[in-house]
This record gives sequence, structure tokens and C-alpha cells, in this order.
Amino acid sequence: MMLKFGTVSSSLDLESHGRRAGTFDLVHSDNRHAFSSIQSPLSVIRGGDGPTALICAGNHGDEYEGQIIVRRLFEELDVSDVVGRLILAPALNMPAVLNKSRVSPLDGGNLNRSFPGEAFSGPTNDIAGFVRTQLMPQADVAIDLHSGGSATDYLDCAYFCVSPHKARNRQTQELAMVMGLANTFVVPLSDTTGDFDTAALEAGCAMLSCELGGEGKISRRALEAGWQGMLRVLSHKNIITDATAVRLGATSAPQTRYLDLGENACVITAQTHALVEPLVGMGTRVDKGQAVARLRDVHRLDAAPEELVATSGGVVSIRRTNPIVAPGDHLVVLCPELGKSELAARLDLEESKVSTP
Ligand SMILES: [Zn+2]
Repeated sequence: MMLKFGTVSSSLDLESHGRRAGTFDLVHSDNRHAFSSIQSPLSVIRGGDGPTALICAGNHGDEYEGQIIVRRLFEELDVSDVVGRLILAPALNMPAVLNKSRVSPLDGGNLNRSFPGEAFSGPTNDIAGFVRTQLMPQADVAIDLHSGGSATDYLDCAYFCVSPHKARNRQTQELAMVMGLANTFVVPLSDTTGDFDTAALEAGCAMLSCELGGEGKISRRALEAGWQGMLRVLSHKNIITDATAVRLGATSAPQTRYLDLGENACVITAQTHALVEPLVGMGTRVDKGQAVARLRDVHRLDAAPEELVATSGGVVSIRRTNPIVAPGDHLVVLCPELGKSELAARLDLEESKVSTP
């Protein structure tokens, strides 16, 4: 059966037992692609009738840890390792991946703002619609692996998009605990318009996205943390066998720390054209009033440097990569830690249902 949405299609058989590598193909008729399709890898491993996981990366093209992890899953897993089914898509927005950029060079589309996707409304919209209509409905669990990309560095974290539905929050918290990344960012629903996460939750999937380092580089630390987390999630959800997870290096999940990326997060933003000297490192706890960056006029040596201070305390969780800034450029985000009762209130769950360090 052909999978198809707008200009995107795939002939890969996702149903039969076995291990198959194919593609989904985007038709985009410009000067370069007048007589081509743009192919992106899509693969399936089905070993049994257990649950299905959809594991994606390359939603943003300049984020690499996830792209490696998803490809490695296909390389290392055999049919006999899989109790259910794995659908693997390591380069969701292939035009952006090939261009080494966050968004698509074809239409400027940010795939993670293009869901649910409308057919024949441009290549990025069509990829979003293809994922939403052809892949998500087949999945019980969906994971979308991100990193900070060229522009930013992130603490390794699971991204917990809060849902108005208690049952979904319980499900996401379970995944975040099993994923066991050092941090889990708790993100309000209002910040997630058009993203993969919202579409997957609406399709009925248990859903988690992750940020694994950033700066357009590949971090060994983030790669290993993401790999271990994936193995734990897949065995916990009964998609691969526990023995397989152990064989491929899974250890037990470390406790994750919950950080508030909602309205209590402190975002430090430049108001001048400047060269930025960071005064705090990633992961540092910063107090209210503490200087976090020193800004210098790019053109004048005799202008006094300006120090930007934290207007509220938190952990340095996201930091800008490039130090040449303009008014409106965010430099750093400080996220306060969420204790057990605050987390329970945020997720609308009973305190006994949440676990914090
Ligand atoms: Zn991303």
C-alpha cells in the first residue's frame, strides 16, 4: 500500500514482519529538482505483534545526535530483537539536513512549526502532513530527537510538553523517567503550536522529544545519554527485548531533574549590538541579581562594558552559540528547578504520582 500525503509518498511496506530500509520521497519541482525526487530514509523492523515506536530525528537539519542514534538503531537491531515494531526516520526534513540548516532551503519552512500540515502547501507542510497522517497513526510511542542546532546549546533534556489531559501527562512523565536524561524541561502547552509533539499527542501516541546538546556539533556525552535513553524506552514499552537493551549497553535510568521552561524561566535578551562574554557556564545555578553576561560595543573600545544580570534565579539551561548579537537576541535561559509539589501542580497529578530527585 502506498503511503501518501500531498507531494510526499513512500512505497515501504510497514506491515509485514521483517527488517526493511526504504525512503519517503518528496516531489519539488525547482531548477535543481525538475527531474528528481528528494529521498529521505524510512525503515521498519517488525519482529512481532507488540507495540509500535516511531523514532524520528532531523526534524531540524543542523541537529545531529538524534540522526546518528536513529540510524544506529537500524544497524544494531535484528528482527529477533524486536517484539513489536520500530519505524525509523532519521532525516525528517532532508532538504534542511543536506543544507546543514535548521529550516528547509526550499521554502524556509520550519518543520517543527508546520504540523498538522496541509496538503500541497509547500514541501515542509507536506512532510509534516505525511508524518502526521501516515506514520503517527501507526505508532503507540513517538520520539522526536533534537539538539540545540547551530544557534544554541541545550542541557541534555527530555522536553515535557504539558497536556491539559492528566492521562497524557502521566504517560509523558513515565517516558521522561525511563529516558533518564539528566534534565527534563517542563514546557507549557502554549509554547508548542505546530510542533511534532502536539501532533503526536493528538494522534494518541505516548510522546517525548529530547534536546541532546547543540551548537551544530556532535557531543559524545549527549550521544551516549540519548542512546541509553532510547534503549530503555524501547524495552520499557515492550518494543525490543530487555536482553537486547542490555546487549546494546542499556543501564538503569538515572534520576532526571525537572526544570521549568514556562513563565518562571528567566530569559536574558540583548538590547544592543554587542560582543558577548558569557560569565556563567552551562548547568550553573545562578542567583537573582548575579551577572550572567558582559556585553561590549563591537565598534568602540572606549564604551563601558554592560553587565546583564539575572532577574530571577535558575539553572543555565539554554545558551546562545554565537557571541555577536543584536537587540532582541536571547543570550541565555535560566530555568528554576521544580520540586515535587510544584511539578505535581503543573502536571495536574497527585504528588504521589511524580518522582523528583
Ligand atoms: Zn530542533
